Amino acid sequence: MYKAKAYAAGSATSPLAQTTIPRREPTESDVRIEILFCGVCHSDLHYVRDEWHESLAAIYPCVPGHEIVGRVAEVGSAVTRFKPGDQVGVGCMVDSDRTCANCKEDLEQFCPNGVLTYGSPDKHGTAPVTYGGYSESIVVDERFVLRIPDNLDLAGAAPLLCAGITTYSPMRHWGVGEGKKVGVVGLGGLGHMAVKFARAFGAHVVVFTTSESKKEDALRLGAHEVVLSRNADEMEKHAGSFDFILDAVAAQHDINAYINLLARDGNLTMVGAPEKPLSVAVFGLIFQRRSFSGSLIGGIAETQEMLDFCGEHNITADVEVIPMQKINEAYERMLKSDVKYRFSIDMASLKSD
Ligand SMILES: [Zn+2]
Ligand SMILES: [Zn+2]
Repeated sequence: MYKAKAYAAGSATSPLAQTTIPRREPTESDVRIEILFCGVCHSDLHYVRDEWHESLAAIYPCVPGHEIVGRVAEVGSAVTRFKPGDQVGVGCMVDSDRTCANCKEDLEQFCPNGVLTYGSPDKHGTAPVTYGGYSESIVVDERFVLRIPDNLDLAGAAPLLCAGITTYSPMRHWGVGEGKKVGVVGLGGLGHMAVKFARAFGAHVVVFTTSESKKEDALRLGAHEVVLSRNADEMEKHAGSFDFILDAVAAQHDINAYINLLARDGNLTMVGAPEKPLSVAVFGLIFQRRSFSGSLIGGIAETQEMLDFCGEHNITADVEVIPMQKINEAYERMLKSDVKYRFSIDMASLKSD
């Protein structure tokens, strides 16, 4: 066991502050990673403030962070896929049982015995729970370590590990590609990645936003069209025309307005998670055999596929790099959507603490 610098929250109401945490010595199948950047996901904030208490109660101290990129510092004797110096990443999961039907189909994100990067019981016993990427280093089994293509900017690559795969996976699943009309609802951390992927897949991309001010940015990110969702006439023009819509809005909103924009057999997938149930008008689904679904990150193999795709197409997130010391301020700004489009923590800043 060794000690690593990290930022942790001591309770649901205390700010994140510097501390040291225990990390295990690498086992034979482990990789020790020096963390260079960690993206700031909205889930980090929800978890730290225990806002998901009913489904995923926070355990303190809590070290969030599951958009991790860094360099391999050390590998265990049985590690075959990585060597010191390699550029690597870790996303939302650090282990699973590897034996269930989901794991066998490379869908570890649905494993009933999955281990999340932070807040899951630590089966190695190093600490009560796993600690995430707001830290100078992390030790992870090589099966849950991903290769980051050399050409990608690391600060911008970090958010690919959660925001990237969260949007890439459902678009692959529902066949987004050339000749398809794709809608993206909400232009934030997830939405801006969805626009980049949909465009790279060759689809016709339409962004729905509530703010006029995001129009220009949506076009710059790759959208062909931008629709102000409050404008009923503009919405009506697109009725029954979409093959796929990805909805990244976590606030209450009228989902039926989007279901009605789907073509026959069209699908609307939620990746934003509103706190309260949404009201779905079922007739909207029945008459055109439309479907309404959800999606959760992606498996390890698909996450690697996504990263390789990003390498080929030079896709990264648009980030604002911050020092670790600014994290509490960043959370407040994230609540006001005052970030384009993801914060990425420069972990070198932790050394000066
Ligand atoms: Zn996340
Ligand atoms: Zn499993």
